[in-house]
Amino acid sequence: MSTSLLGPADVRQLAERLGVRPTKTLGQNFVVDANTVRRIARLAEVGAGDLVTEIGPGLGSLTLALLETGADVVAVEIDPKLAAELPATIAARCSPDVAARFSIVESDALLVQAEQLVVGGRTPDALVANLPYNVAVPVLLTLLERIPTLRSGLVMVQAEVADRLAAGPGDKEYGVPSVKAAWYADVRRAGAVSRQVFWPVPNVESGLVQFTARPAPVSSVPKEAVFACVDAAFAQRRKTLRQALAGWAGSPDAAETALRKAGIDPRTRGERLTVQEFAELAAARA
Ligand code: SAM
Repeated sequence: MSTSLLGPADVRQLAERLGVRPTKTLGQNFVVDANTVRRIARLAEVGAGDLVTEIGPGLGSLTLALLETGADVVAVEIDPKLAAELPATIAARCSPDVAARFSIVESDALLVQAEQLVVGGRTPDALVANLPYNVAVPVLLTLLERIPTLRSGLVMVQAEVADRLAAGPGDKEYGVPSVKAAWYADVRRAGAVSRQVFWPVPNVESGLVQFTARPAPVSSVPKEAVFACVDAAFAQRRKTLRQALAGWAGSPDAAETALRKAGIDPRTRGERLTVQEFAELAAARA
């Protein structure tokens, strides 16, 4: 078994040969540093027997590091040129037994269905990705929703987004992405990544986010109803919940009734509620 990772010259050469000019719209910043992709694969704690889904494999930098761990990888890439080339890159840099553990789906990750990610009758156990930054939160939440078999994951995102995803009640960064991610998983920061490991160098800092799936909060109403309450609470995050939830509940008084029924002080702000409290609040209005 052998794998040869991509370095800066390999990435440039591949891009040049394919005529790939990285676009901002698709968040195309490719990792050119073997240590970084190995670090991501190690922190993801994946290995032989795991089926990993990778979103946005690009030229294959992280894909190769994931295959090196012994895991099976099913990657989802939106760019047809990159999706078409990846099997050849893997075949050229891995022994055939390693290359056989890779498959590619050409799709927008926001539209991909769980069935497309089934390999040998299995759905993915883990999500590991250097996510396209402009759609990182929706991609993460969509996959957590569509693939209930995901046990864990490690994603690279813009540093501010990493802070938001990992924030807890009372933190200044706590908001809609934090609560929605917490619905599915325990989320934490897992370190920073220098801009210098990318080509082209992005104009934002990057951070790693690790998650472990956990059972959804107990709720007598569907997740969509809870998420509607979360959206309303943070749409006016400076206001008390009594005010912020007036539209959602019908009036400030109706909001207060639901809040009291859920055991929440109506003068509290949304930024202090846990996902479980949001679940109870949504149920209290129903
Ligand atoms: N994984 C590679 C690496 O580490 O070098 C590339 C990461 S780059 C930040 C993001 C990748 O996501 C690009 O390959 C881009 O084409 C792809 N991408 C962008 N939007 C996407 C989407 N909606 N669905 C799937 N892939 C997407």
